[in-house]
Amino acid sequence: MFDKILIANRGEIAMRVQRACKELGIPTVAVHSTADADAMHVRFADESVCIGPPAAKDSYLNIPALLAACEITGADAVHPGYGFLSENARFAEILAEHNIHFIGPKPEHIRLMGDKIEAKRTVKRLGIPVVPGSEGGISSDADAAATAARIGFPVLVKAAAGGGGRGMKVARSADQLAAALSTARAEAKAAFGDDAVYLEKYLEKPRHIEIQVLGDGKGNAIHLGERDCSLQRRHQKVWEEGPSPALNTKSRDDIGETVAQAMRDLGYLGVGTVEFLYEDGKFYFIEMNTRIQVEHPVTEMITGIDLVFEQIRAAAGNQLTLKQSDIVFGGHAIECRINAENPVSFRPSPGKILHYHAPGGLGVRIDSAVYQGYSIPPYYDSLVGKLIVHGKTRTEALMRLKRALDEVVVDGIETTLPLFRALVREADIIDGNYHIHWLEQFLAAGGMAD
Ligand code: ADP
Repeated sequence: MFDKILIANRGEIAMRVQRACKELGIPTVAVHSTADADAMHVRFADESVCIGPPAAKDSYLNIPALLAACEITGADAVHPGYGFLSENARFAEILAEHNIHFIGPKPEHIRLMGDKIEAKRTVKRLGIPVVPGSEGGISSDADAAATAARIGFPVLVKAAAGGGGRGMKVARSADQLAAALSTARAEAKAAFGDDAVYLEKYLEKPRHIEIQVLGDGKGNAIHLGERDCSLQRRHQKVWEEGPSPALNTKSRDDIGETVAQAMRDLGYLGVGTVEFLYEDGKFYFIEMNTRIQVEHPVTEMITGIDLVFEQIRAAAGNQLTLKQSDIVFGGHAIECRINAENPVSFRPSPGKILHYHAPGGLGVRIDSAVYQGYSIPPYYDSLVGKLIVHGKTRTEALMRLKRALDEVVVDGIETTLPLFRALVREADIIDGNYHIHWLEQFLAAGGMAD
């Protein structure tokens, strides 16, 4: 096992990793920018190192500063959390060159899945169903037109280096295709420095369903069921739950086993998520995330498995001791991502939290790094915290969510709490009857305006 883990992240995920380290008895090192000197993840760690000024590129993304922090503290492993350097294959390689372990997948798998065209080609070969689309990248307008004619409109132009929903454009007819291509290319170039794009059939009303996997890099891998993340705004997840209201045991076991087998064939190491769109009873792969995800607590609540603990164990070279038959799904969990944003305009609302009260009680979990008097800095993501509830049934989970939402107090800044208080009272949400465009349609129809 590792002697000391440096956590190259901040906020709730840094604290989440610290919790797993504490249970494993491993000392932790926090890193922070000058803007985060008062952050909870710094107070909670055994040691801390300031790695630079507020801008993420000078601190949380500053590889030389992170290496120096490992050197100074004697950390022999780095946990990257999510975001920042978590899917940077080169970072994993540089750490290895300095005899420091990266708590994540093998660099070649990060690189493979980071190129969405290569990822799609690979998983298709491994027997995972994919969205119909171009065989590889799109080389010209004529190539795009021919592919669109083959798969049929509407089509979606997507960036090979994509992430966070950027570089994605829909074309509903042939005359919209050239414009969609050039906008997607320009957006991808600006966001990722790579303008490679590919084409996919645009699915009209799918759900977003993702499968959580865990592997030991030695050919053993299992799946831990699915999370339904269909409630999104601008392709960003807002509400996640598991099990999906749309699946049954057989559909879950089938897709789960297909994915787990593909991970065994790959020799995948650590935790990962294979994301699908699901429409008319069929799964279509869209991408794989090679890291712990924001919504991982949903899976933890319904399986009782600590994913970060398992991730660290696997990175330290331990063989997977969990078998597929050990994974028993119990009850239902829902996570709400509470952001420091205006609930109608979604304008960020950083600033000082004047009053804070976290909800409690049976089946309620809060993963957050805020406290009363804490100022949310304007430099990073706007996550205040994640509220996760668990119940024996979906109805019980919803009941708990409603009362927990009514109990939380976050004063001094605007948050998206009113959005969730409205959602738990919507008939479609109560019925589990929603798809990836439901939330935007609800907002466009003035769901939050009255
Ligand atoms: P990113 O890496 O930018 O998050 P993804 O490929 O994971 O991109 O897609 C993000 C979201 O975009 C999906 O959850 C879904 O809402 C939407 N999306 C992606 N591909 C399609 C598609 N072929 N048809 C319809 N919606 C899509």
